[in-house]
Amino acid sequence: MSSIRHLLERNRAWAARVTAERPGFFRSLAAQQSPRYLWIGCADSRVPANEIVDLAPGELFVHRNVANVVVHTDFNCLAVLQFAVDVLKVEHVIVVGHYGCGGIRAALDDTAHGLIDNWLRHVQDVATRHATILGRRDDPDWRADRLCELNVIEQVMHVARTTVVEEAWRRGQPLAVHGFVYGLVDGILRDLGVEADNGADLRARYAAAVPRLGSR
Ligand SMILES: [Zn+2]
Repeated sequence: MSSIRHLLERNRAWAARVTAERPGFFRSLAAQQSPRYLWIGCADSRVPANEIVDLAPGELFVHRNVANVVVHTDFNCLAVLQFAVDVLKVEHVIVVGHYGCGGIRAALDDTAHGLIDNWLRHVQDVATRHATILGRRDDPDWRADRLCELNVIEQVMHVARTTVVEEAWRRGQPLAVHGFVYGLVDGILRDLGVEADNGADLRARYAAAVPRLGSR
């Protein structure tokens, strides 16, 4: 119990610190939020969205799950996306994977992990789809890094092909989808260069991004 009380104490100290630095911050934030970005990232505790991009509360709308997967029947993720695009009018959706991802590792190995294996089937589908690239080396670290990147690219495509994003583009709403990978060892975000801001050249962007990874 003491560790939970500790969290409340830390919260009070943080709120006091923020208020001292920016008087009225919480009152103005409570009135409205207007984030420009939706972050779809991994639930990993080492990848805290706001901190990594140095954004304050109110500046980043966030959805996280294991291995940053976007599934077209996942109404949790779809509801976040729809609210972010239709109501908050975010201008950028960023899918963020990270090297050293336990979910990616688990998807690559053959051992059972329980219920989560059902979720990780989606990542295994990505591995199956890109078996030729992943088969170029036996090195498990290399394979995990490539699958991490390929998974981000596939999830960017999934975001771009949701009815939410398709309809936003159809009505001319400015909206771009991006794929980043975060390095746990250096704290750096890398752009995989798979951004899409309309449905027309989506396949070309995808076709250009995937071979780049295979040549690493
Ligand atoms: Zn992860």
